[in-house]
Amino acid sequence: MTVTELVSYEDALAAYDPVMGLEVHVELGTKTKMFCGCATTLGAEPNSQTCPTCLGLPGSLPVVNATGVESAIKIGLALNCEIAEWCRFARKNYFYPDMPKNFQTSQYDEPIAYNGYLDVDVDGEVFRVEIERAHMEEDTGKSTHVGGATGRIHGASHSLLDYNRAGIPLIEIVTKPIVGAGDKAPEVAKAYVTELRELIKSLGVSEARMEMGQMRCDVNLSLRPQGADKFGTRSETKNVNSLRSVERAVRFEIQRHAAVLGAGGTIIQETRHFHEEDGSTTSGRVKEEAEDYRYFPEPDLVPVAPSRAWVEELRGGLPELPRVRRNRLREEWGLSRHEMQSVLNAGAIDLITATIDEGAPADQARKWWMGELARRANEDGVELAALPITPAQVARVCALVKEGSLNDKLARQTIEGVLAGEGGPDEVVTKRGLKVVSDEGALGTAVDEAIAANAAIADKIRGGKVAAAGALVGAVMKATRGQADAARVRELILEKLGVEG
Ligand SMILES: [Zn+2]
Repeated sequence: MTVTELVSYEDALAAYDPVMGLEVHVELGTKTKMFCGCATTLGAEPNSQTCPTCLGLPGSLPVVNATGVESAIKIGLALNCEIAEWCRFARKNYFYPDMPKNFQTSQYDEPIAYNGYLDVDVDGEVFRVEIERAHMEEDTGKSTHVGGATGRIHGASHSLLDYNRAGIPLIEIVTKPIVGAGDKAPEVAKAYVTELRELIKSLGVSEARMEMGQMRCDVNLSLRPQGADKFGTRSETKNVNSLRSVERAVRFEIQRHAAVLGAGGTIIQETRHFHEEDGSTTSGRVKEEAEDYRYFPEPDLVPVAPSRAWVEELRGGLPELPRVRRNRLREEWGLSRHEMQSVLNAGAIDLITATIDEGAPADQARKWWMGELARRANEDGVELAALPITPAQVARVCALVKEGSLNDKLARQTIEGVLAGEGGPDEVVTKRGLKVVSDEGALGTAVDEAIAANAAIADKIRGGKVAAAGALVGAVMKATRGQADAARVRELILEKLGVEG
């Protein structure tokens, strides 16, 4: 699929300076569409959520969804943008079967929010990504190409169209050119999209699930010779739909551009497709210029003029933003930046927080989610949050350990039981008989038996080789199927052999 022989990443960076631009589309989680009352439920019967307006039938008139505007303003405020006092929608004219109106209602030169920034953390350093604009628009319908091998239109026998998605509100967030990232450009791009996704989720305006297409990223990239001021020609890789893919797409395009430029070629301004299988991109279509869309103000919609009082009310109601919250929790939990990054990468912040809220100590909550449970999620290939165990259940396991009913090993078995669907922690402990043996009589008997069965070792201990006690502790733990308190067992052994610990 690779057309050009790539240049190594290091060689590319030695010769060129990458400039990025990221355009992220976020599908809002409003109950109804942006310009009509149709439902937005995912997975509904095709074309069951349509009406004359979102099908673009003659005579139908759009009405703006107030929640959509409110969400756009919240996003703008959270991105430190200025909010327009007055702005309009515009028609972006193009013909494509998935857009039955033959134009997309969008915003052109009057976006609702502009001139902001988002700070992201990359390798312990803060990188500021400047935001050009965030504007409102609507999604298109969905085409399914049937009969071909690839699912693409080439080779298909026919295509199916579903207009349920047509008219669902979108916010498009466009960065200013991102310069100065150097060899960290792929990481900066990924960190930006990650931070943006967290921000959107924290505002409650969208679930921003990239795998569901609720958030999609277009990656613009150009190279300029090191030391040059003027930007090179850019390529635009469309619909890069995972965080990892954003990073890979930037890396691939840097290497491809460098190869083309290094061989004396020119970069064509075009859109490109990203391929998950090998992380490559291939040529799509030559990019339209803005004038090709013949934008003009939408005559059927009134301008949007949010009052300053409303904007300030929304500003006052913003939640603690993810990066601020993260830094606060990092301090509270006493973690290094690196440790916090691991927690973030594992998608464990909310789970740990919820476990602490259920009464678990911070270090214990983190230990289980980042240890045993992260391992299981990884093994099963699922997100941590998708594991069949709740923060309350993890907190209960922590409590059982704290009160001495479970030791570490038994706690692990309890969690295993919960994950296997055997019930809550208490139920699993009862069913599996996992309680720590704390009955001194039973423990004493087990210790006596271990001493009798290991006379030689017992003699060594009596003779002062206290380190040998480990073998006896092991024997007792084995006899009690791991259900004894190892520290107490050790004490008992030394007591019975008349040795000082
Ligand atoms: Zn509709």
